Amino acid sequence: MARYTGPACKLCRREGKKLFLKGDRCYTGKCALERRSYAPGQHGQNRKKTSEYGLQLRAKQSARRYYGVSEGQFHKYFLMAERKEGVTGTNLLQLCESRLDNIVYTAGFASSRAQARQLVNHAHFTVNGSKVDIPSYLVKVGDVIAVKDTSKSTDEFKTLVESNASRTVPKWIDADSAAMTAKVVAVPEREEIATPVEEHLIVEFYSK
Ligand code: SF4
Repeated sequence: MARYTGPACKLCRREGKKLFLKGDRCYTGKCALERRSYAPGQHGQNRKKTSEYGLQLRAKQSARRYYGVSEGQFHKYFLMAERKEGVTGTNLLQLCESRLDNIVYTAGFASSRAQARQLVNHAHFTVNGSKVDIPSYLVKVGDVIAVKDTSKSTDEFKTLVESNASRTVPKWIDADSAAMTAKVVAVPEREEIATPVEEHLIVEFYSK
């Protein structure tokens, strides 16, 4: 399925929650959801009762859009999560969190996941010293992500890292903004994952 390339804010308005897809703008009064907190489209302001299936579908779509993952890829993560030991919903979110583009964003090397995906695509990062330009690459505990040496000195990265310096990096990532490196030191606990969804609804959606 083709990647969605329409307005990001429309996705938040559809889901009725902030998915933080546009970087700094999401934290200001310019956020479209704060100005128009109803679904887009002609019938967006009509109130209607959501069915159980509708709630499950919205939870799945919210998580997918939050991480910028295609339907096929997200379902693949669900199947992987089911095969792993532990709680399937938590496993699913942990898999999404371990994507390289998510870690680049979470460590403060990009202002949004979309920007992180683009920077990874443009081969600005290494994992354990080797170039990796695949945003869906799953990073493991112990792996070290770094901005490529030739990219570190560019104004683009200096500005990016400076502008994201105030962002809190969760404990499972050991980020060094001066060296532009980040080491994954643990698998994130559920409470360390900020995804605004009830993951049990996603499990119910796929378990039908
Ligand atoms: Fe969503 Fe950010 Fe747009 Fe607000 S500004 S609607 S949080 S993408």
